[in-house]
Amino acid sequence: MLDNLTQRLAKVVKTMRGEARLTEANTAEMLREVRMALLEADVALPAVREFIAKVKEKAMGEEVISSLTPGQALVGVVQREMAALMGADLGPEATQLSFAQQPPAIILMAGLQGVGKTTTVGKLAKYLKEEKKKKVLTVSADVYRPAAIAQLKTVSGQAGADFFPSTPQDKPVDIALAALDWAKKHYHDVLIVDTAGRLGIDEEMMKEIAAVHGAIKPIETLFVVDAMLGQDAINTAKAFNDALPLTGIVLTKLDGDSRGGAALSVRHVTGKPIKFAGVSEKLDGLEAFDPSRMASRVLG
Ligand code: GDP
Repeated sequence: MLDNLTQRLAKVVKTMRGEARLTEANTAEMLREVRMALLEADVALPAVREFIAKVKEKAMGEEVISSLTPGQALVGVVQREMAALMGADLGPEATQLSFAQQPPAIILMAGLQGVGKTTTVGKLAKYLKEEKKKKVLTVSADVYRPAAIAQLKTVSGQAGADFFPSTPQDKPVDIALAALDWAKKHYHDVLIVDTAGRLGIDEEMMKEIAAVHGAIKPIETLFVVDAMLGQDAINTAKAFNDALPLTGIVLTKLDGDSRGGAALSVRHVTGKPIKFAGVSEKLDGLEAFDPSRMASRVLG
């Protein structure tokens, strides 16, 4: 069992009671503990470095009010900064989806295979239908895995959304455009486009999804990332962020036992808001992302 941050810091601050301010000298050892805690939570190193630098900048010279130890004062700074980096400063509207003035609003899903893209399409469709009273159409532009198309058909049915059939013989751009045409003709409010995922970053795949993006010009381009992904999250996020103008992130599998350091890594490289969290395999397992709760989870 890992110590939580407060316990970790309590160990090093026993020796330094009664200090009036946070200084380089009295925070150095504590910041090393913070750094270790983040690495154990699988936050990628560049994101850890950025975070520690931010905390240092905010903490130096901060007065330690008499009822607190320097450790408690630093924990306060660390928690505030972590929540801010997770997106607390963006406000609650950061987790909202945008809708086009002229329907349908198009949502494009991006991410590696197995991260939970198709499941998330089903979850979003259900949420949009039930909570936002939208008429939703889904389509799969994954022409490599017929099973993926069948899976989307199933989850769309479960979500009560309409499904636009596609076949592996079609081209992804043509599929997306045909679905858009259908959505317009049948007065859908939202079109969600699922895309092919690969096991790793692949230039062809990036070109393909960029072409789909260019053809349908989605109002939301959501990068789906698995919270269990750990250190790799940073490279994947960078590749998708470079290839596409992402508008938000969905962090899946938060019901697992990972500390979710991927959240910080992905925020670090994309700067985009995490809009939703996936918290179960079921279609009602989607929540608005909560930056403060995530901050506490990553810090332990
Ligand atoms: P895709 O390849 O990205 O489309 O991924 P899928 O939607 O097929 O999901 C891959 C696996 O992850 C499936 O077994 C899903 O049930 C599971 N999954 C997706 N989202 C979540 C989640 O939030 N929590 C859990 N526990 N499992 C999830």
